[in-house]
Amino acid sequence: MAYQALYRVWRPQRFDDMIGQEVITRTLKNAITTNQISHAYLFAGPRGTGKTSAAKIFAKAINCHHQVDGEPCNECETCKAITAGTLNDVIEIDAASNNGVEEIRDIRDKVKYAPTVADYKVYIIDEVHMLSTGAFNALLKTLEEPPANVIFILATTEPHKIPATIISRTQRFDFKRIAANDSYDRMIYILKQKNVTYDDQAVKVIAKAAEGGMRDALSILDQALSFGDNEITLDNALLVTGSVTHELLATYIAQVLAGDTKAALASLQSVLEAGKDAERFTEDIIGYSRDLLLYQQAPQMVEEAEMGSVSADFQALAKQTPAQTMYAMINELNAIQQQMRFTTHPDVYLEILTIKLAEIGRQKGSAPVATASAPAPDAAAPAPTQAAGSAEVSELQHEIDQLRSAVKQLEQAPAQTTAAPAKAKPRVTKSPAAKEVNLAKIYPVLGSATREKLNQLQEVWPDLLNSLTVTQRAVMKVSQPVAAANSGVIVAFDYSFLYQRATTDHELTDALENGLDRMIGSALPVVFVPKDEWPVIRKNYLTAHKDELQATGDSVAEPAKPAANPVVTKAEALFGKNIVDVKQD
Ligand SMILES: [Zn+2]
Repeated sequence: MAYQALYRVWRPQRFDDMIGQEVITRTLKNAITTNQISHAYLFAGPRGTGKTSAAKIFAKAINCHHQVDGEPCNECETCKAITAGTLNDVIEIDAASNNGVEEIRDIRDKVKYAPTVADYKVYIIDEVHMLSTGAFNALLKTLEEPPANVIFILATTEPHKIPATIISRTQRFDFKRIAANDSYDRMIYILKQKNVTYDDQAVKVIAKAAEGGMRDALSILDQALSFGDNEITLDNALLVTGSVTHELLATYIAQVLAGDTKAALASLQSVLEAGKDAERFTEDIIGYSRDLLLYQQAPQMVEEAEMGSVSADFQALAKQTPAQTMYAMINELNAIQQQMRFTTHPDVYLEILTIKLAEIGRQKGSAPVATASAPAPDAAAPAPTQAAGSAEVSELQHEIDQLRSAVKQLEQAPAQTTAAPAKAKPRVTKSPAAKEVNLAKIYPVLGSATREKLNQLQEVWPDLLNSLTVTQRAVMKVSQPVAAANSGVIVAFDYSFLYQRATTDHELTDALENGLDRMIGSALPVVFVPKDEWPVIRKNYLTAHKDELQATGDSVAEPAKPAANPVVTKAEALFGKNIVDVKQD
């Protein structure tokens, strides 16, 4: 006999066999025993939570002549035929594959014929939100004048995509995600029935990985079984789910919280080398961080969710870490998770993430940690705020310096001096994203940049990165040379925070320049720019260059352009258009 998937074999055949949907099953049974059956039902909820199982049990129960307390007998011909899917009066339609208007028109034509064998004709339309507008309209007409003895059960994972006119004609049931505990119990039951040896921890890992879907839980269990020769081991469960052990997660999180970038990157490397899925790993970190936060507020909730296995490491981390840091980390994790969906290189994102998290750990985690005996939250709280404040001030100071030097550059330029930039006192309102770009270093490189030099740099770039340390490489991984001359190379970064990090890391600059010395025979100065500002910088350089040329000849050829405040233009080039607010007095 061919192997049958666990979720098929163990698909519930009675309402009482269903897991985690007690309110719904009780209501449906009650409707059947009191004979208060609606013409149309909407079963909404996440995948694998029992919507189609409930629909089929319902179809059996209303047609079974031996039903007891709203449950089908599962023994009679009708019950058996519905279970096997061979009863013509119970029609299952998958809207995901049959989304045409024709299918629903077909229903409208056939719906008027009375059921042939059963008492009720039941249409189960799965993934009903996939129907086209035309098909919804056809369905609505049928629901508006429901023929006797016909019942529609519409199942969907996305009820918000169903027209309100349809929903209002149905009785709606919202299926819940299945609690990890419930799916754990169900799996243990099945494993015992099948006489399979199992590691308790392994089943917990699977229950959590399934995220509330019983079908997913059983599919994962199936895979773990096929790996393990009729045995469920923790290793196999971790392998199949792509999850990371709690210990490894605890180590990783402790490392980033301590601000130890190097150690955290090494842990990450071993996770990835073990073949773990990057997205899964991110989810695991998010879950772990949320649990830490939750544990601080409501430890018993975490105990329950973890099914009683809260490690000492976890408890210690929860005690040590300020909630503020956890929030910052979770925000970062969510942002990176969004970006990861659109990349083919999630590993790179994980490295970025690690660096960023370690930065958060360094900033806020370095605040005095409350000791177990004498927690001092009041003393610890203001510290990060003050630090952030002074950091902001010094950053602002930097920008003002930048602006000043830009002004000086303009003054020195041989172009027209009508704007009197020295008198303008721009007040710059900065956004946190503002960053300083060293134009004084960039412009000379641009002045003598050649395609040839750039090609040479691009060629050696991968080797150059390989010569760096793990931490340095992670910072530089999303960088690329964008312009090069014999006087220097300009390197653009995809992420401004990496750009900022690179600019302040002198060891990194030294390593790059030394590497270039070895590879191309000259220690070219390396200048960094954020990639999103690169086009503006380049364009601005070209504009300035053009003005210079024009100054020698017809200086008032384009009156509109020279009239523009060069400081504003400069400031915009420095900080971007939308974050500069210049006020003149
Ligand atoms: Zn029956």
